[in-house]
Amino acid sequence: MTEIQDLTPRDAFELLLAGNQRFVTGSPEHPNQDATRRAEIAPSQQPFAVLFGCSDSRLAAEIIFDQGLGDLFVVRTAGHVVGAEALGSIEYGVSVLDCPLVVVLGHDSCGAIAAARAAADGGQVPAGFVRDVVERVTPSVLAARAAGRDQPEEILAEHIRHTVDLLLERSRVLADRVAAGRAAVVGLSYRLADGSAQLVASRGLDAAVPAAS
Ligand SMILES: [Zn+2]
Repeated sequence: MTEIQDLTPRDAFELLLAGNQRFVTGSPEHPNQDATRRAEIAPSQQPFAVLFGCSDSRLAAEIIFDQGLGDLFVVRTAGHVVGAEALGSIEYGVSVLDCPLVVVLGHDSCGAIAAARAAADGGQVPAGFVRDVVERVTPSVLAARAAGRDQPEEILAEHIRHTVDLLLERSRVLADRVAAGRAAVVGLSYRLADGSAQLVASRGLDAAVPAAS
């Protein structure tokens, strides 16, 4: 078995896409979900990707990418909005666990994005901390509209790209890893109806990686 530390960002991305393909076509292998795997990784984890996605109940990370225990380091917030705890968790996955890939996972029919669109249209801004979520999605809605894109899928793509850029802007650790060719950040847009994940943004995926000596 290939050791995770040998995986390039591109390798990790291919591994993730292959799992999604199995899920889409109805032929999942449900890897790494047995007692042997459970025991094997109990002492330490070595996930191959950090998955930062929306909390929506319909996009359970290990299911839609056909992965198992110890494969993904999952961080999720409604609307994949970025705050200090999310950034710290992602940085942990990259700098301590050495994950070569960070995935931002958004999806269609996202309630957080719908709420931000409604708020931008002069509708009600939710109360409590839901407001904080909506306010963190709003810049993506405004940026998409300023560029003449107002369809839900266009706003979704903008929000995914915005999140990818935001992670790199705010996290020095992540930006340094990407610059060094040791990690990539990709944005995927997930379609609830067919279960497929489309690439909408990528940073550092095919950076020249120094040849192994
Ligand atoms: Zn959502």
